[in-house]
Amino acid sequence: MKVFKFGGASIRDAANVKNVAGILQAYKSEPLVIVVSAMGKTTNALEEVVAAHAKQNGQAHTLYKEVREKHEAIMHDLFEPGDEVFNSVNDTFVEGEWVLDELPSDNYDYMYDQLVCMGELVSSKIVAAYLNKIGLPTGWLDARDVVATDNTYREGWVIWEKTKTNAQKIVPPMLVQTKFVLTQGFIGSTSENFTTTLGREGSDYSAAIFSHCLDAEGMTIWKDVPGVLNADPRIFDNTVKLDRLSYREAIEMTYYGAQVIHPKTIKPLQNKNIPLFVKSFLDPQASGTEISSDTDDLYPPIVVVEKNQALLHISTLDYSFVAEQHMAVLFKLAADLRIFVNMMQNTAVSFTICVPNVPDRIEKFVKSASAEFKIKVESGLELITIRHYSPETIETLKKGKIVLFEERIRNTMHMVVKNVPAIERKAVEIAGSKA
Ligand code: ADP
Ligand code: ASP
Ligand code: MG
Repeated sequence: MKVFKFGGASIRDAANVKNVAGILQAYKSEPLVIVVSAMGKTTNALEEVVAAHAKQNGQAHTLYKEVREKHEAIMHDLFEPGDEVFNSVNDTFVEGEWVLDELPSDNYDYMYDQLVCMGELVSSKIVAAYLNKIGLPTGWLDARDVVATDNTYREGWVIWEKTKTNAQKIVPPMLVQTKFVLTQGFIGSTSENFTTTLGREGSDYSAAIFSHCLDAEGMTIWKDVPGVLNADPRIFDNTVKLDRLSYREAIEMTYYGAQVIHPKTIKPLQNKNIPLFVKSFLDPQASGTEISSDTDDLYPPIVVVEKNQALLHISTLDYSFVAEQHMAVLFKLAADLRIFVNMMQNTAVSFTICVPNVPDRIEKFVKSASAEFKIKVESGLELITIRHYSPETIETLKKGKIVLFEERIRNTMHMVVKNVPAIERKAVEIAGSKA
């Protein structure tokens, strides 16, 4: 049994759904668990619905209607009028209307999950119905019957034992009935049957959860790129595809922000030695990238840029040394507020951490620590990570940047940088052109 995952871009409209169906035709004799995301940018659109509902600004129903209409237009391109799928999708969307008809919950994250899950629920219904229509028998599975989480809404923590029991009980009999079982990425459910989501971009992780629990022989995520590249093609030219990567390398890349794979995806696969293939849905025959156990491969420099970072410069108010008990207080606070520390450095009386710039969490952190610590926040920064760095790569990446702090540990270099202000860049260019 294999697990395939198709992201939002791969099913963003009717033509792309047909393309995915074309890919699956080639696998029709194999048992497959297929995990899909919401179509295109649906999750972003639903986030706006949630925000409007919370503000009660009168826009929520209109925005929700737009989401429904987009899906209806796609269904009209895929199915004859009167197809059963119209009712089934309508039933799901109506559940969202019920949430909008009530007053917003005080718990924003809870309300978010009850509404945003609609994206995956309807996309999975549409894709499964289309596969059945073209003669690929496909069972539809509600991922919430399998993926058990705690009640950390918007970032559900998977309860592995329960999830494994559910998966092993429910999925294999379905695979006997239909070769394909299609389900949603991104969503799970609490013990009280409330919907949770696993964090933005979490569908890759869902596919890894299914792969792990069902001992899949392999997992493939189908993307709009030829495979994992040595840098983000949206930021850099001349990227190269990595044909093979070790789990370790993939974990390092994704942990530091390579957006091609959700960071939580690799570990569940590594623990069971399940290979992960990243392939292009635009060129399904091409080889892609294989991520599996360690090899002696030599890697080119691999660059990951994580934007929107902040440095928190922390010092003690009483000028005492920054010692272990202070660190314990600060890390506990960061963990409680779900502030992820990407890098840290300390001197005798100060301590600096690099964290994603989430203003409301940082404000809470500064406020809560203010009795003991003075904290200066510097935002608008980037964290650049280079694996297997070479002097030339470092030079190229430092162009036009001011390096605020850097660290090298064996194969890895991290730099926190900000752009040289435009006015200074101009001066450098002018000086350069004179020479
Ligand atoms: P999905 O549709 O599965 O959610 P994503 O859009 O999240 O896919 O991920 C694919 C995108 O990741 C690519 O379009 C590419 O722009 C971006 N990306 C960032 N870093 C890399 C990298 N190192 N290699 C390949 N793609 C990358
Ligand atoms: N639809 C969700 C998101 O856009 C999950 C995913 O696509 O991975 O974040
Ligand atoms: Mg994604």
